[in-house]
Amino acid sequence: MSVDFVFRCAYCGKTFTPSQVTYTCPEDGHNLDVVLDYDTLHRDLHPSRIWGAGEPSLWRYLPLLPVEDPGGEDTPLRRVGWTPLEAAPRLREALNQPFLWLKDESSNPTASFKDRASAVVLARAREMGARGVVTASTGNAGAALAGLAAALGQRAVILAPRTAPRPKIAQLLLYGARVVLVDGTYDDAYDLSIQAAEAWGWYCRNTGYNPFTAEGKKTAAFEIWEQLLRRVRTSRPWTIFVPVGDGNIISGLYKGFWDLHQLGWLEHLPRLFGVQAEGSAAVARAFHAGREDIEPVRAHTLADSIAVDLPRDGYRALRAVRETGGTYITVSDDDILEAMRLLGRFGWFVEPAAAASMAGLRQAQTLGLITLEDPVVLLLTGSGLKDPGAALQAASPAPIIEPRLSALERVLH
Ligand SMILES: *Cc1c(COP(=O)(O)O)cnc(C)c1O
Ligand SMILES: [Zn+2]
Repeated sequence: MSVDFVFRCAYCGKTFTPSQVTYTCPEDGHNLDVVLDYDTLHRDLHPSRIWGAGEPSLWRYLPLLPVEDPGGEDTPLRRVGWTPLEAAPRLREALNQPFLWLKDESSNPTASFKDRASAVVLARAREMGARGVVTASTGNAGAALAGLAAALGQRAVILAPRTAPRPKIAQLLLYGARVVLVDGTYDDAYDLSIQAAEAWGWYCRNTGYNPFTAEGKKTAAFEIWEQLLRRVRTSRPWTIFVPVGDGNIISGLYKGFWDLHQLGWLEHLPRLFGVQAEGSAAVARAFHAGREDIEPVRAHTLADSIAVDLPRDGYRALRAVRETGGTYITVSDDDILEAMRLLGRFGWFVEPAAAASMAGLRQAQTLGLITLEDPVVLLLTGSGLKDPGAALQAASPAPIIEPRLSALERVLH
C-alpha cells in the first residue's frame, strides 16, 4: 500500500479523495496538489530508511510517493532519476561562482527530466488498470511516456506538434508508440489529447493536468536535498535555476521541498529562480506585473521544450517562486545559444531549454541578483542529443579540408 493522500486544489483549497477526481479541480479547473498523510509519515518513516536502502533511482522515494511500485524489473523504468549532481570545478572558476552545482538530467533513460513524471504516471495508470496512456508533448514528455510505457508493455499514444524537432519524433517512433503529428501548436495537441482520453478511456499524462506528474518531478528536489542540502551547510540561502515552460517542473520541485518541510526534514526552502525564453514568457510577465492570472502569448523561441503559449501549470509556477523568495528571469535565444556553448566547453551537452538555466544564472549575475557567495544549483533538464540542429546552430561550422597534413596545419595554426 502507498501512503494515504488527498488532492487539494492549488487555487480554491478544496480537498477531494482520490476516488472523487482524476485530473483537475471540478470547481475551477485548477491543478490539484497531492497532500500526503504527513502525520503518519512523520511517525513511521525515518529518512535513513531512504538512504540506507541505497536504491539508485527515484524509486528510493516510494515511501513518499502516492503510488505503488509499478514493477518493470530489469528495464529502463528502474533507472529513472538519482541523476548526478556535479560540482564542476573548472566551470566554477570560469564563472566566478565558487558554490555552483549542476544537476544533469540527461542520464535518465530517455535523456530528459520528463522521465520522472512519466514513471510515476505509469505507476498510477497501472493501479487504475488503464487500457492505454496518452499525452500531448513538444517531444520530451512524449518520449518519456513512450519509452517507459514500452518498458512496461503499456500502450501509449503521443500527440506532438508537427514542428517538433525530428530527433525527438524519431525517438517517439522507435519506442513503438502510436505517434500522431498535429498540424498546429503544442497547445492544439494538448486540447486534442484531453478529448481523446475522454472519448476512449485512456489515462492522460498531460503536464499541468495530471496531478501525478508533479509528484514524479518532486523527486528531483528530494535528490538535491539528499545529495546537497542536508550535507553542505551554507550561511546564505540556496538558489535553484529552473527552466520554465508549462511550469510543472518548478511546481514539482517546490512540492518536493514542501513535502520535506512538512516532514521536518528541511528547515528552509531553497529559492527557486524560474527562467523563461523572452519569446515564451507568460509566467515571467505575470510575475513581474504582480498578477495571478496568466495571459497567453504566441510562443516563439528555439528552446522548443519551453515554447508554450498558455502555461498549464502557471498558477503553481508563480506560487513556487513567490513562496520561496525567488524570481523570474527571461533570456534571449542568443543567450541560450551562448549558454549551450559555455556548458559544452566544460563537458555538458544540453538542449536549448536546459541551457536556459545557465543563461538565467548569467543574467542574474549581470543584474546583481546572485553574488559570488551564493550557493547555486542549475537544473540541466535535457540532453543535447535531443536537438542536434540547435547544437549546430550554436556552434561555428567545422572546416573541410583535403586529407593532407599541410591542409590540416593551415586550419589548425
Ligand atoms: C519540459 C521541459 C522543460 C520545462 O518544463 P515545464 O514543466 O514545461 O515548465 C524544460 N526543459 C526540458 C528539457 C523539458 O523537456
Ligand atoms: Zn479549485
